[in-house]
Amino acid sequence: MFSLLKILPNRVSQGLVATYFKVSLIGARGAHSSDLNINMSGMKVKVLPALGDNYMYLVVDESTREAAVVDPVEPDTVVKAVNDEGVKLTKVLTTHHHWDHAGGNKKMVEAIPVPVLGGDDRIEALTEKVSDGYKTNIGKLDVECLSTPCHTGGHICYVVSNPGQPPAVFTGDTLFVAGCGRFFEGTADQMCKALLEKLGTLPDNTQVFCGHEYTTSNLKFAKTLEPDNSDVLDKLDWAESVRKEQKPTVPSTIGEEKKYNPFMRVQNQTLQKKCGCTDAVSTMQYVRRLKDNFKA
Ligand SMILES: [Zn+2]
Repeated sequence: MFSLLKILPNRVSQGLVATYFKVSLIGARGAHSSDLNINMSGMKVKVLPALGDNYMYLVVDESTREAAVVDPVEPDTVVKAVNDEGVKLTKVLTTHHHWDHAGGNKKMVEAIPVPVLGGDDRIEALTEKVSDGYKTNIGKLDVECLSTPCHTGGHICYVVSNPGQPPAVFTGDTLFVAGCGRFFEGTADQMCKALLEKLGTLPDNTQVFCGHEYTTSNLKFAKTLEPDNSDVLDKLDWAESVRKEQKPTVPSTIGEEKKYNPFMRVQNQTLQKKCGCTDAVSTMQYVRRLKDNFKA
């Protein structure tokens, strides 16, 4: 599953490791992509690949050097990033209770004792239960919680913003680049509310950081529904070239998602017609069912 030969040159060139033994250890931890730093005005997001295709994120307020981590399933990687950056970790933001997102919480707070936020009592080591509209901060950055139940009942997306600058949203398994999470504990109606009314009303330039690297497979599916949509085709070409180099395809933006993500396009009449539907909710249900059975 993790090819050492593929990982070795990339990791060594990044100067992250010195020995073969360490390379193989890191290879077993989130080696699906290289690390990536996204610098926004006053805010830095460190993209930290984990497990087979998960992403953790270290979110840094540049003015105070305070940081929060989203879904730290591999705490050792997070501790290293916190030390490398020389920042003070002040909270864990958990999107939902699934093990590949919340399963590192206990070990994370044993290493660095900080509050664990989340919207579900099933979240490991939860200390601060949040709900829709709950506000907190990372240093001078504002954080707002959006309740987006469907993939799980207590799923929360976190909107982080530096006043006057484009926000970032951490969407867990609700919104992916060109896709959305399975409806394990909710309905198509709830996913419509999450994607169209909550996430879809954020500014178009909001940066989207999702929980998994599923982009090329999502776009291959989108292409089957909208083979003439040039935004789908262009993004797929781009994503395939990025993934050849094992780089992350995050972030995207809310504005981009509206152009190629079929789950955010369920109000589009051509797409509805293609699905034999006449409204957004039944189109959402239909598209999800197709995707559940799609093999890229
Ligand atoms: Zn999940």
